[in-house]
Amino acid sequence: MTFKDLYLISPILQALEEEGYTQPTPIQVQAIPEVLQGRDLLATAQTGTGKTAAFAIPILQLLHRQAKPESRTIRALVLTPTRELASQVSDSFAAYGRYTNLKHLVVYGGVPYKVQTEALQEGIDILVATPGRLLDLLDQGFVDLQHVQLLVLDEADRMLDMGFSQDIRRVLQAIPEKRQTLFFSATMAPEVSKLAKKILTEPVTVEVTPVSSTTVTIRQELYYVKKANKTPLLLHLLQELGIGRTLVFMRTKEGADKLAKELTVAGIPAEAIHADRAQRDRERVLESFKNSETQVLVATDVAARGIDVESLSHVINYELPFEPETYVHRIGRTGRAGAAGVAITFCGASETPLLIAIQNLTGKAIPVIDQHPYPLTAQDFMDAAAGSKNDKRKGSGRGGKSKRERR
Ligand code: AMP
Repeated sequence: MTFKDLYLISPILQALEEEGYTQPTPIQVQAIPEVLQGRDLLATAQTGTGKTAAFAIPILQLLHRQAKPESRTIRALVLTPTRELASQVSDSFAAYGRYTNLKHLVVYGGVPYKVQTEALQEGIDILVATPGRLLDLLDQGFVDLQHVQLLVLDEADRMLDMGFSQDIRRVLQAIPEKRQTLFFSATMAPEVSKLAKKILTEPVTVEVTPVSSTTVTIRQELYYVKKANKTPLLLHLLQELGIGRTLVFMRTKEGADKLAKELTVAGIPAEAIHADRAQRDRERVLESFKNSETQVLVATDVAARGIDVESLSHVINYELPFEPETYVHRIGRTGRAGAAGVAITFCGASETPLLIAIQNLTGKAIPVIDQHPYPLTAQDFMDAAAGSKNDKRKGSGRGGKSKRERR
């Protein structure tokens, strides 16, 4: 199967060729023809499956083929949960649409209004937005959504998690009821399905790589290691094994900052990315990681969601996540669109319950690498087991709350 078989127009085929895409991914094969025929779409797909191109390509083709309107009006609207994702979606429209006559714009909060309002006044065809800034611009009269024909909700589950349900409702009131709607979500929890049902009309359902399954092209490795030895082990892997550009996951912002500093001191170009950093800093950090000036990007889960860097060969879980699904999302940052990737996980003795939860979810044991300089001893496991017994005896201390609740 090639993109030509999907009846794409030559300006798009040429752009895809220049992107180096040789064949469509499964979600693209399933979604593109249906969207081109005007159907609504309900897609269960996470980042890394090629989902952005699955909606961007047919939107560009549908709009490019329409008669050129006298003045540009927003004909397609894409809503995304985060600024990072919005700017990646916008990059995709720029890449695939470079030979079309369409103009697109991305708007999100945390940056001055002026550039966005000026571009809106000049006229655009496709708007990519986070809900908050979109509503601000709408309230101020800078955005007119009355001509929207195509609506995309990208990472709908994440938008609901982040409390955007009310905002989405307001956006829906501002756009025509008669439209084509494309709904993308990594998971289909009941409230996500409820929203999908409400806004879609006889949608085609497409499902790829459910969240509980890990991509086969990702090699997973588990290193048992004491908390105090995690940084030395990371340095060993980076220096001795010559691992290149790497995304390292931490649970907390403080932890991310501390690790980035330690790596920098050890001579490894590293930066932290998390929600407390200014938007300008986050963009600079991402850019420097993309062009390989920064070798290690230390990220929290919220900040890392949607980070899309081509040819990211390694992802390292410095700490295990509390939610097993987060592990699947994290390692999905590598092994993108069929490329090979390695996901390395550091597990301290006290983290084994989190590891078991992950393995139960994915249905696979992660292969253990025990040939490394900082292996855990049997005593470490016994100490961890004794520690957790003591915690239980004390009623878990702080009002008996679980670790998850205390976060
Ligand atoms: P996404 O799931 O939209 O986040 O896409 C993940 C990555 O796959 C991005 O880096 C895209 O540039 C890349 N990609 C999307 N479609 C293809 C394709 N057909 N061939 C190769 N890479 C692709």
